[in-house]
Amino acid sequence: MEQLSVTNAQRCILQSVNKLGVETVSLERSLGRVLATDVRSNRDIPPYDVSAMDGYALRNADLAKIPAMLEIIEDIKAGDRPVKTVHAGQCARIMTGAPVPQGADAVIRVEDTQALPNGKVQIDVAVKRGNDIRVRGESMRNRDVVLAAGTEITPGVVGVLATVKSAQVLVYRRPRVAILSTGNELEDIDDPVDPSKIPNSNSYALMAQVQALGIEPDLLGIARDDPAELEEYLQRGLRFDVLLVSGGTSVGVHDYVRPVIESLGVEMKFWRVAMKPGHPFAFGILQRNKENIAKANEADEVQGARTTATQQFAAADAFVFGLPGNPVSSMVCFEEFVAPALRSMTGHARLHRRIISARLTHDLKHQPGRTEFIRVILAKEQGGYAVTSTGAQGSGMLLSMARADGLMVVPAGSNGLTAGEQVTVQLLDGTAHQDQADFGE
Ligand code: AMP
Ligand code: MG
Repeated sequence: MEQLSVTNAQRCILQSVNKLGVETVSLERSLGRVLATDVRSNRDIPPYDVSAMDGYALRNADLAKIPAMLEIIEDIKAGDRPVKTVHAGQCARIMTGAPVPQGADAVIRVEDTQALPNGKVQIDVAVKRGNDIRVRGESMRNRDVVLAAGTEITPGVVGVLATVKSAQVLVYRRPRVAILSTGNELEDIDDPVDPSKIPNSNSYALMAQVQALGIEPDLLGIARDDPAELEEYLQRGLRFDVLLVSGGTSVGVHDYVRPVIESLGVEMKFWRVAMKPGHPFAFGILQRNKENIAKANEADEVQGARTTATQQFAAADAFVFGLPGNPVSSMVCFEEFVAPALRSMTGHARLHRRIISARLTHDLKHQPGRTEFIRVILAKEQGGYAVTSTGAQGSGMLLSMARADGLMVVPAGSNGLTAGEQVTVQLLDGTAHQDQADFGE
């Protein structure tokens, strides 16, 4: 079978997955979720012109001659409502966040004044009209959309939601994800150490990658390379929205995942991607009920977002990702294919890792054909970042992944890179981003 480019494999997956339903969560539990509706401001913020400083609210016209002596007519604290109007020769003492009184058109900070006896103050500096006044609505305007559907709820977003009094937040439902490892050679974490066995790391690394997206997966354990046992495990996994199967997807005589999964009704979209590491990577769909999905999609278009009533239909498809057994390959394939799919299913507008451009510190050999993902370490330098390989890049060398700040993308068509070249690095931490790397395919 022909192998797909990384870009086409990604496109195929993202065109296939659908958003799940929506649910309401309390603001306290909303961090990391994705907004399912646009959020509007419910008032002007600030609600009136307020002072940006502790100081005096005054009339700019009174500062024609400096120093100026002004009479203090009122003391306005944050939360107060001013009662007096500031006339010529007058000012009001004002605190940060307090409403600017009638008649005043500027605030001067207390550091630029000197207190005088008899309720007066000396102003030492002339300021322009509007100085240190936060104008009504400058932060948010009543009725304006302040957060768009598809926005991930970060701490900053939580602050905005609290500002507009969203105690309950409508978010997309998170997919239920199952993880299954396959292989006779595997020994699980609680098993005694057997020198002839390979420790199961993939289940746990994948678990953590899923958790990093705010989703708590179910670990189904290890299935032996036996068609009957595999069928039992895979059947269980196909009850989830997403099933990640590690190992058994290549063409070895004991790689039964493909035939068994197809016998269970899963339509495999592809089996190979032109990438390194991660060559045997598979993606398939179990369509449970086409008619209901069509209905749910229709409702989606009418309403702009799914209701809880349609979410059971939306969840009808199950998506299967066959990940390579080699530990680094498994993690890289998750990064490139599963993570964008899970973000898309949770309604995320940003599907990809943030990318940066950095200076390669060494030569790198590469044969044209496959897009390569090199685990790299970044170091700040004058004008940007220097990027260096973590060392040996074997697809079983998991330490390369543990040490990496990012994955450097070597374009498929490259004949090798030279020291000093600018290269693209996908960062392995931080928030998701809209722009995808150019894989040079
Ligand atoms: P496979 O894709 O099943 O041919 O597996 C390739 C290699 O990946 C195996 O020989 C194992 O060394 C390794 N491997 C497979 N599954 C796991 C796992 N769950 N954890 C760690 N290594 C694994
Ligand atoms: Mg295997």
